This record gives sequence, C-alpha cells and structure tokens, in this order.
Amino acid sequence: MANDAVAEIRDRLDIVDLVQQYVPGLKRTGRSFKGLCPFHQEKTPSFVVFADSQNFHCFGCGKGGDLFTFFMLIEGVEFREALRDLAVRAGVELQQGGFVTPQHDEDRAKLIGANDLAATWFHHILTKAPQGEAGRRLLQERGISDEMVERFRLGFAPDSWELLLSFLGSRSIEPELALEAGLIQERRSGDGHYDRFRNRFMFPISNRDGEVVGFGGRAIGDDMPKYLNSPQTTIFDKGSLVYGLDLARESIRKAEEVVIVEGYMDVIAAHQFGHENVVASMGTALTEAQVSQVRRGAKRIVMALDADAAGQMATLRGLETMTDSMGNEDEQQSTNAFGIVRFERKLKTEIAIAQMPEGKDPDDILRQSPDDWPSLIKRAQPFLDFTIDILTGDVGADDARGKSEAVHRIAPLFRQITDRVVQAHYVGELARKLRLDERIVLSEIRRTNMAGRERSLRQQVSRESEQVDGRARERTNENYLTALLLRHHQLTADIVAAVPLDDIHDARNRAILGTIASEDLSGMTAEQFVVGLEEEIADHADYLLNSLEGRPEQFPGQIRMETTQILSNLGKERFGFLLRELQSDLREAEKREDGDAIELLKEQLRSLAERHGRYNPPVSPYFKDSRSPAR
Ligand SMILES: [Zn+2]
Repeated sequence: MANDAVAEIRDRLDIVDLVQQYVPGLKRTGRSFKGLCPFHQEKTPSFVVFADSQNFHCFGCGKGGDLFTFFMLIEGVEFREALRDLAVRAGVELQQGGFVTPQHDEDRAKLIGANDLAATWFHHILTKAPQGEAGRRLLQERGISDEMVERFRLGFAPDSWELLLSFLGSRSIEPELALEAGLIQERRSGDGHYDRFRNRFMFPISNRDGEVVGFGGRAIGDDMPKYLNSPQTTIFDKGSLVYGLDLARESIRKAEEVVIVEGYMDVIAAHQFGHENVVASMGTALTEAQVSQVRRGAKRIVMALDADAAGQMATLRGLETMTDSMGNEDEQQSTNAFGIVRFERKLKTEIAIAQMPEGKDPDDILRQSPDDWPSLIKRAQPFLDFTIDILTGDVGADDARGKSEAVHRIAPLFRQITDRVVQAHYVGELARKLRLDERIVLSEIRRTNMAGRERSLRQQVSRESEQVDGRARERTNENYLTALLLRHHQLTADIVAAVPLDDIHDARNRAILGTIASEDLSGMTAEQFVVGLEEEIADHADYLLNSLEGRPEQFPGQIRMETTQILSNLGKERFGFLLRELQSDLREAEKREDGDAIELLKEQLRSLAERHGRYNPPVSPYFKDSRSPAR
C-alpha cells in the first residue's frame, strides 16, 4: 500500500544521504548539515538539513520540507514520480518488473543481428523455398498481398529441428548467441540444441525503430500453442513491445489516432486496406509501457475489439479483489477496466472502445466490408461511457439490487479519475442512467475507497501511536491541521491560502493544501475533492478525513479558531526549533571567535525572523522583526 511504502521509504532512506547527492559541499555542523542552497543562488551556505527530524530548511529562500519534498523540488517531479524513484533507491518494491536491464550496446547489436538474419532466412523459406509451401497456402487463404509479405517481412519456419541452427552456424552465429536470442533451445539431454520455431508461420517483431527483436510464430496445424513467441530476452520484452509500431508511426502522427487490435493478422489486414495507424498488443493484456509508446503523436487511442473481448473489458471482472490493491501501482496491465482508466489518467490520454459487430473480429471486417472500418473506429466510445452503458444497460428502473450492484462495481473506477470536471460528469452520468441521487453514487465511491485502505490505516495508526518523539508530534499536528482544513475547506479558504507550505513537512499534506489553495472548490465536498486526487495522496487524505470521524461537531467559529490556533502553533514550533538551532551554532561560532560564521548566522537569524515574524517570537538582539519601527 502506498502509505506503507511512504513510511518504509522514510525509514530506509536518510535525507542527509539524499541531499548530499545534490549538494556536494554539505558539511556537518553539530547535529545538522549545512551547504549551499540548491534552490537559490548564494555564496554562503544557508541551507540546513536536520538529521534528527529528517527535514531541511533554507534560511535564505525559505524552502523547507521532508525527503519527498526535497526530491520533488530538486527533480521537478510530482509526488508519484518521487515515490517511484525513491522506492527504487530505498529498495522498496512498488511494482513488479518494468525495469529494463541496462544492455551493453555490443551484445545488443549481436542479438539483433542474429534475429535479423533469422528473419531474412524465414522470409526466404516462405517466398522461395519448397519447405515454405504450407506458409504460402496460408497467405492465399488469408488473402495477404505480396506487398504485405514484404512490408512485414513475413516468413515461415520449416518443419524441421535443425535447419535454422545449421544455417546460423554457416553464418558464424554461435549456438550460445542463437540461444540468447531465443532462436534455438537446449536439448533436454543437455547435449546440443534445436530450433525453437518449427512448422510455423513467422511474424518478425520489431521495436519502434524497426530492429527485429523477436518473433511470433503461428502454428500451421493443430500444434499447441497456436501462437508461440520468442522467450523473454534482453531485447525482447513482450510487455513493452507493440506489433507493427515501426510501420505505423508515421500514420499515427498524421491521423493523430492509433488503433490497437489483438492479432498480428488484424494489423496486416488493416495495412493492406490502407489503414496504417493500426498496431497490436502482444497477445496479452495491454501494459502501461505499451500504451505509453503508442500514444506518442496520438490524441486518441482506440481499442478495436470483438464483441466478446469488449464485453469482458467492461464486466469489470476481478475488480472487487482489486480494490484491495487500490493504492498499489503494481498492476501495470489493463487486465480490466481498472487498468484502462489508470492508463488514461497516468498517461493523460483518452482511450476509446470500438466494438466490432457480434461474431466478427477486425480482420473479418477489414476483409469482408473494409468500408465499414472507418465508421466503426469513428464511432468508438470513450472507455467510461462504454463501460457505464454496458453495466447499466440491463438494469431496470425498479431493479434496486441491479442498481446497487452497478454502482458498487463502477465506483472504484471513478476513484481513478483525477480530472474533477470529468469525474463529476461521469458521476452525473451514472446517477442519471440509474435514476439515482448523485450523492448516493458519491458516498459509494467513498465507501469503496475506505474498505481498500483499512489495512494501511490500521498500520499507520499503530505506527503513530508507537512514536512519541517530537517528530511524530509535529507530524500529528500537521496532519490534524490538514485534516481540518480539508474537511472544512469551504469555511477556511482564507486560512488555507495563508498556510506557509514550507512549514509543512509531509509532502502529501503540502500537496493537499496546495491543491485546495489553488483550485476553485466552491460547491465541492471534501469527498468529491479527495476522489480527484492522485492515488497516494488520496490515500493519505482519506486517512486524514477518517481520523476526524467521531469527533464532536463544532461551530464554524470554533473550527476557524482551532485551525488558526494549530497553524500558529506549528509556525511557532518551527520557528522555535530553527531559532534554537541557529542560536546554538552562533554560541559555538562565538566560542571559536569565527567572525565570518558569526556574521553569516546573524544574517540567517534576521532572515528567519522576517519569514516567521508573524509568530511573534521573543525579541532578540540579533534581528529586526515586524515590531521594529524601521519596518
Ligand atoms: Zn535557498
């Protein structure tokens, strides 16, 4: 869960180590570390990292916060990316796979060379050799033109165990290399090798630059499996490859649209009939890596699916169990609707569904009635519209159970939409279709969220109750303040706007308060607001809102007073803490009679007072503040 990951990363990483990578001159002074601020130009160091409380503060520009905040600021990334990168550094697992092993250029070129040679050989067999007869029959049956055979470098693997192996040998490709390229396999006896693809129609699979990195082989007879791909190799990663992308790139850019089909044959048929912006997933559920590749240059992604596949996509099968891993970014695949909506959000792309007529797949449509293809694609429905239609289609006006089920199933999907306007649109859409009050739909969304987070909530609560040091107390005050400001944002808009974000340590609290302050939330409840937040931040926001439950109702005036009070306390605590740090440094510098350091520290005290003067600090001989007549 995201909350656990955040805590785990905080436990494992030291902010001092992290900052040192960006601020080379960071030096220990007492219990803290000092260096030149990476966020503003300065000649003398006023940037301090506090090892004990694991946060930082710049006495020059006023920036401050925790490990996550530092990383977000210095790398210019959003919380999600910071979480992902820091997880890698901390060795905390957020997602399975997805990381590409760095590949030595020379090895890579050799592997691609071997695959390319094999592609040429398969192609020769299909077009010229007697052993390719079965392949040529298939070409005829499917009506694949010679032009497509050339464009896609289609080929045929003869019904033999060692023909490719010996051909590769004749071209000085060692068995070790052929094995690594996934072209041959080791005999079980451990004695020698044999061809991996036998009696199969061969589709070379290229990366987006057109380099052959592997193959898909379609069985000619009843051999199983019907489709056999190259094994996972250092250059062949099924999850990140898209069939036909190298040939479709131009056309995708021109059409500003990409169509994803399921089969290799569908892609070839589409190209043959002049629709060249068509690619295929690799016989598995679509992955995030694939979507992120095809969307380049495309404003819209259309998935062209036969009726069965489209129906399955919208049944949201398995969604109930997935609410369990809601905060989890592991699920990189579109195994269901949940993945699709996540892709749309994360990749900021629209995905639409074009459903083929009952009993037909794209290949059938393209061959039998190619003129229908453009209109089918044009009529593709945005994924959520499509899903809502399917899920509400057979729910009658009086079918209470059906309505409940539909809302229950679709609620977690809505949770994935961050664009508030879009989200409100679909909540309204679903409510209208089911003839329900929008509030019921909203409360269901919230209820589903909570169920998925109970575990992480319990863990966080127990962790917080174990910690009694100042760091935890600080965090708790900060959390409480954020919770109040979130729950009552209508009442406290002016207070939120005045919160100095650099005094807020938890990057998630900063994100929540920053969003409340910068967006127009009039007429929006806290729940509606939370639904639209990024996942990890929404997790935290839910936790905050939940922590307020069970507290007695308060009058608006009390709420305003309380938030103002906590805010002021937080500022005072922060100010007091920084002041003590500087004063103790100053005493040491005075003992050492280090004139430069004394000057610098006095300057920093002055700047601290300017920024925090509103907290009415005790009068100090070292600085002027808002009470000084000079101002
Ligand atoms: Zn600074």
